[in-house]
Amino acid sequence: MVKKIIYKNIEAKNKAGLIKRIDELMEVPSDNVVIFFANQDSTNRPDYKPEYDKYYDNEAFYLDRREDKRFPHIWPDEIQDDLEMFRKNRCEHFIWISKRIGEAEEIHFALIYSHELQHLKQSLKNKYLLIIAKLLEYNDNYGDLNIDLPTEVECEAKAKEILAKIFNQETFEAYIKRMRERGPYESKRYGRLLELNIPVNFDVELEIQKDICKNKEKLRKIQKQREDTRNTDWNIDVDKLCFCRDPHEGIVSSVGKLNQDDGLW
Ligand SMILES: [Zn+2]
Repeated sequence: MVKKIIYKNIEAKNKAGLIKRIDELMEVPSDNVVIFFANQDSTNRPDYKPEYDKYYDNEAFYLDRREDKRFPHIWPDEIQDDLEMFRKNRCEHFIWISKRIGEAEEIHFALIYSHELQHLKQSLKNKYLLIIAKLLEYNDNYGDLNIDLPTEVECEAKAKEILAKIFNQETFEAYIKRMRERGPYESKRYGRLLELNIPVNFDVELEIQKDICKNKEKLRKIQKQREDTRNTDWNIDVDKLCFCRDPHEGIVSSVGKLNQDDGLW
């Protein structure tokens, strides 16, 4: 299946030209990719209580379905309508863009959308990279923002690069200024984006490996705890990861699935 874009939201659909431009600039391989522009989220569905993380409270998220077919539930009704189609079309990569982002001003939309496309590219490069990166989040290394997590840094940097290709510097700076005025979280996040500059040879796999191995003992314990309490579907062999010289090999060889069950939808 080639890429499929599902527009539940009219304003997102009006951005089809911009979406096409970003897709081209990002050079995302489109096999088995579904991009879903939502019209429902937790705010317009009051009975919605997220059980599986707070996916539908996010601005957007990327889901790798190659090894785990489950969708974060309870999903909004509009996802239910398309589940059968996802299954038939072998949707392996799923990007959900919230209603508020679909309806956001173009520059903000472009930032969030490009960011999620970069997560897709990361996963295509190494299907365990985002799973390993998640372990770092449990260590509180990066505070509440997670913007210093190497996988997030790379997405933000790539998104910033895309903005520079589509909007001029003045528009970008005015946007950053507006966002920073929204509150302490935004002030920090968008301040960081303004300054963000990563080296061209930034190796996201190496950076993730380095950050994990810096906190090896603690992360090994956290991983063990998560396995014991059945809070994870993945076994991560931290020692093996840190022993391996090649970060790509290290990540690929140190992650395994705990639960072989393909689970629910
Ligand atoms: Zn992200």
